[in-house]
Amino acid sequence: MLQVAIVGSGPSGVYTAQSLLQQDRVPEVRIDVLDRLPCPYGLVRYGVAPDHEKIKSLQNNLRTVLADDRVRFLGGLDVGSGPLATERLRELYDAVVYCVGAATDRRLGIPGEELAGSYSATEFVSWYSAHPDTSENGFLSGARSAVVIGVGNVAVDVARILARGADELRVTDMPQSALDVLARSQVRDIHMVGRRGPSQAKFSTKELRELGSLPDAEVVVDLAELALDPAWADPASLPGANRRNLEVLRGWADPAPQEPGAARGPTRRTGRTRRIHLRFFLRPVEIVGAAGRVTAVRFERTAPDDQGQVRGTGQYEDLDAQLVLRSVGYRGLPLEGLPFDAARGTVPHQAGRVLRDGVVSPGEYVAGWIKRGPTGVIGTNRPCAKETVNSLLEDAPGLVRQERGEDPLRVLRAAGLRPVEWSGWQAIERAEAELGAGQGRGSVKIPDWDGLLQAARGTDDRP
Ligand SMILES: Cc1cc2nc3c(=O)[nH]c(=O)nc-3n(C[C@H](O)[C@H](O)[C@H](O)COP(=O)(O)OP(=O)(O)OC[C@H]3O[C@@H](n4cnc5c(N)ncnc54)[C@H](O)[C@@H]3O)c2cc1C
Repeated sequence: MLQVAIVGSGPSGVYTAQSLLQQDRVPEVRIDVLDRLPCPYGLVRYGVAPDHEKIKSLQNNLRTVLADDRVRFLGGLDVGSGPLATERLRELYDAVVYCVGAATDRRLGIPGEELAGSYSATEFVSWYSAHPDTSENGFLSGARSAVVIGVGNVAVDVARILARGADELRVTDMPQSALDVLARSQVRDIHMVGRRGPSQAKFSTKELRELGSLPDAEVVVDLAELALDPAWADPASLPGANRRNLEVLRGWADPAPQEPGAARGPTRRTGRTRRIHLRFFLRPVEIVGAAGRVTAVRFERTAPDDQGQVRGTGQYEDLDAQLVLRSVGYRGLPLEGLPFDAARGTVPHQAGRVLRDGVVSPGEYVAGWIKRGPTGVIGTNRPCAKETVNSLLEDAPGLVRQERGEDPLRVLRAAGLRPVEWSGWQAIERAEAELGAGQGRGSVKIPDWDGLLQAARGTDDRP
């Protein structure tokens, strides 16, 4: 029997488990999936936007893996020290696969980042996603104008959530406390800003297009600014996704044919409550404040250079803002006891095998964002996990122990740990369904540790 610990129950952890269950090279596999949170699914639960129900429903696919008889979900176990030190896990299991994701945001490295009112998109996403480590930070207090720095899909997510009214979000699993804050929001202008041109923006066309269909928000673009992009006039040589992005932007920039003579320049479609301004060729140089709070973001206008990058022009523009959300990418964090490449924010590996000082460390593996960095969609984690599992299976003959020790779960319990098991997670799901029913809504997330653990352990009196 091959006994494997997977640390992290996000997509890469679950796809690792799935690959191990589907293989036929090792006759019997037992898998423990450990997570520091009492809830599984990683960023599918705590990152994917609540109004993207279809993507959220991927949890149903992940569930079938974790509910398999050969898998045990062990939530509430923060791996890295004490009885959960990496070397201890290596003693307890034949192999350990680290799938811990990339939990922190990248910094801009400009003055003013620490001012009140300036947050990473990670903090904002965690809050509306009810991550139990985050609480209401007064994100929206006094804010009328918000600047979102970055033009990737996460930037689009946070801009869209700001632009939706609380009524539109009631159908999601967002906690009532977050809905109440959004209902009181005075944010009317949301500026989403990229330092390069629209043809280089990272958002996907589907996410971009969705901004144009929000019931109570209009998209504002400036044709003159878009046209600074060398690819604007002739996008034929662009990859399909970038070309389609320009088509969507063009649709917003060009006056509709039925409006003969309509003015060019900044586009207003209707008199809706909120405006999403899409801005390009602006590089943030300072978050400006007064009395410790954000009042504006100063940008330097950039211009395309001949390397496909941009250069500063020495011209500056301030955008009024009481809320700044920085969305310029994610970064992995070192896990105590595991090697870490600080420059890349990943664990050094060879086809998923952890490298210690350049040498393969037997029985230790990585998959997902901590292996390849924070790129790709959920599905990208599947082939990534498969590669790791292939390496593990090749190594398996040298990993499987002849003498089976005590069940690792008993050892962990004897060390005083009290994991939230699958039944505990199911109890959380039931409690969230009841919470929602009480509010006349579908399932609603429990946003705090006490509430989650109480729900999980209500049915489990084990010491
Ligand atoms: C805000 C946001 C929105 C996104 N939206 C989409 C989308 O709409 N569509 C899409 O395709 N992709 C989306 N993605 C990308 C997608 O979420 C990632 O590709 C995917 O989650 C990465 O999987 P992972 O398993 O590597 O990491 P994660 O999903 O981050 O999972 C890591 C898990 O490890 C656990 N963990 C961390 N440290 C420890 C520890 N020390 N001990 C135990 N457990 C630990 C965490 O609690 C977590 O459950 C989004 C990403 C973000 C950040």
